[in-house]
Amino acid sequence: MGRGAIVALILAAVAASAVAKDDRAPERRLMVEAIERLALSVGASTGHAKLDERVLDALRTVPRHEFVPANASRMAYADRPLDIGHGQSISQPFVVAFMTHLLQVQPDDRVLEIGTGSGYQAAVMSLLAREVYSVEIVPGLANRAALTLQRLGYANVSSRIGDGYRGWEEHAPYDKIMVTAAPEYIPQALLAQLKPGGRLVIPVGSIDPGMQVQNLMVVEKAADGTTTSTSVIPVRFVPLVHGKTN
Ligand code: SAH
Repeated sequence: MGRGAIVALILAAVAASAVAKDDRAPERRLMVEAIERLALSVGASTGHAKLDERVLDALRTVPRHEFVPANASRMAYADRPLDIGHGQSISQPFVVAFMTHLLQVQPDDRVLEIGTGSGYQAAVMSLLAREVYSVEIVPGLANRAALTLQRLGYANVSSRIGDGYRGWEEHAPYDKIMVTAAPEYIPQALLAQLKPGGRLVIPVGSIDPGMQVQNLMVVEKAADGTTTSTSVIPVRFVPLVHGKTN
């Protein structure tokens, strides 16, 4: 066999393994169909029966199974939250889709996420925005998410270890801010780091372990800097904890 043939064979093998790696696209399509059905069935109470097609496309694209621990990979495309270690979880796909829809991310946006977790939501938003900045308080999660995002080539996502109550001043102001853990009040620093005309999506409410129900809020900042908040649906998130890190 000539050298060229060997190279061609090797290239064919590499291409085959790349395809095999992403053989879960059909599962993602089914996952998105389930999300669309759920959005429709709860549409009367959420006011959003149809979700943004760009968001749904991003969910059809991002390999969610790469963001969950190996032992949860089989369940990666079920519409349920999954354990990602350190007592934290990755939100169920519907919640990721719904919150991203509410954020109305535009191609030129600079987005801040609080609560990187697995990095999945950041990856989804990175396909819709110009840049995504994400802050995570648990170093083990932050480091793992950064590696996953880098390995999968999400080059427009930057992440750091820090306390999300303080936002990420260095890259402020942001067009959009997504918070994926629940504080009892909207952190002042996040309002300050939001551009006039910007939007913030955040679960807010009691972190009392007995209650643990919050309201998913959309906060809009007007050109004059005033803010209005709308409560969209009840949700259940892990608490946004107060940390010493920053
Ligand atoms: N968006 C994530 C899921 C986040 S779960 C994903 O797509 O996988 C909520 C995350 O918020 C957890 O990882 C938790 O450690 C983190 N968190 C909690 N309090 C925080 C704080 N004060 N600052 C930054 N992150 C925080």
